[in-house]
Amino acid sequence: MINTWLLKPAELILKGDNRKSFEGTLKNNIHILLSSVGSGIKTKYTSGRYYIHAPCEYAEKIENVLSHLIGISGWAKTETCEKNEEAVIKACVEEGKKLFKNGIKTFKIDARRTDKSFPLTSYELCCKAGEAVTNAVSSLKVDIHNPQDVIRIEIREKALVYSGGKKGCGGLPVGTAGRGMLLLSGGIDSPVAGFLMASRGMNIDAIHFHAYPYTSLEAKQKVISLAKITGAYCMGIRLYILNFTKVQMKIKERAPFPWTTILLRMAMMEAAQKAAQKIKCKCLITGESLSQVASQTIENLTCTQSRLSLPVLRPLIGFSKEDIIKKAKQTGTFDTSIQPYHDCCTLFSPPHPVLHGKIQEANFYYEKLELESLIDEALKNYEMVK
Ligand code: ATP
Ligand code: MG
Repeated sequence: MINTWLLKPAELILKGDNRKSFEGTLKNNIHILLSSVGSGIKTKYTSGRYYIHAPCEYAEKIENVLSHLIGISGWAKTETCEKNEEAVIKACVEEGKKLFKNGIKTFKIDARRTDKSFPLTSYELCCKAGEAVTNAVSSLKVDIHNPQDVIRIEIREKALVYSGGKKGCGGLPVGTAGRGMLLLSGGIDSPVAGFLMASRGMNIDAIHFHAYPYTSLEAKQKVISLAKITGAYCMGIRLYILNFTKVQMKIKERAPFPWTTILLRMAMMEAAQKAAQKIKCKCLITGESLSQVASQTIENLTCTQSRLSLPVLRPLIGFSKEDIIKKAKQTGTFDTSIQPYHDCCTLFSPPHPVLHGKIQEANFYYEKLELESLIDEALKNYEMVK
């Protein structure tokens, strides 16, 4: 048996002249993701909707792909029926029975008719179908304003009837907004930052700095897991893993202790920029949020980006921790992020860090450290996980 899924693109309606290329990228992304599911899957794009036709044994895998697909506002498994009043209403009654079985008590009908030759208007279709469903399943009630589920009818090239539509990730298709380098730690924030930039259409590469043996192998593995979860939304992520132990040791030995956090961030940014430029990333992305911790005051953020030529995008800058956690739970990174393996050793964290660093002072200490050769060494010996 063949199942059909209907996908509604998000935001594309807004994109004027770019629309064709956005649609093409979304189509391409759908193809790439479905090719990993199996063979015999057909797709079609017509009148602003994408359709997937696939053997029913792929249903679970396809729904997993769709729940990670950036660029669609919603999707649903649909039934195709003959394009006449009787068949459409019969299909609605079947949907009504399904809703009742699933414990739904209130519903409404939503009808759309792009084929204007269909004899009933959308409103007439809603009324007739609603009445037929309530007659057939007497315990289902219509609630126009706050229904538990919606039976949707679309009269297009074919007639489609479905309920239980799912909300998609939204956003713009990955691959429409250039490439960015995400500084990925093992915390809660940076995977969310990567997801948010991918939702604006950006391809994401990631870089992680560890300090083995001061940080554990489990901490590194945790970051790989976070990249994998985030990568499912981003059409894949290349994660560059760098050993920064020598850089951190030198900062610890030579710089005033309260300055070490800012100086380490400056070194990470410099290394990330060098890596980014090699692989044509146009910006750096971090999970920083204003005033969340000492290194994220406006003065310290200014210090850490002061030597860079690439822009630093901080999509979480105005988010509360609560909002970030909510997003991390939605995207599925939260449970991994809170595993107790830390990406930073307390040995390197000053008890009283500088809160409002001055750029001149930060650069004075930074230049005195002469970190360039250690940064280049770390960059040369990277490990890459796709
Ligand atoms: P997170 O939850 O993302 O770890 P945080 O609140 O712990 O955030 P910081 O540790 O100050 O904040 O890190 C701020 C940002 O710097 C992170 O969101 C990340 O983008 C980057 N960053 C921090 N540590 C690392 C690391 N070891 N490797 C790569 N990037 C890092
Ligand atoms: Mg962190």
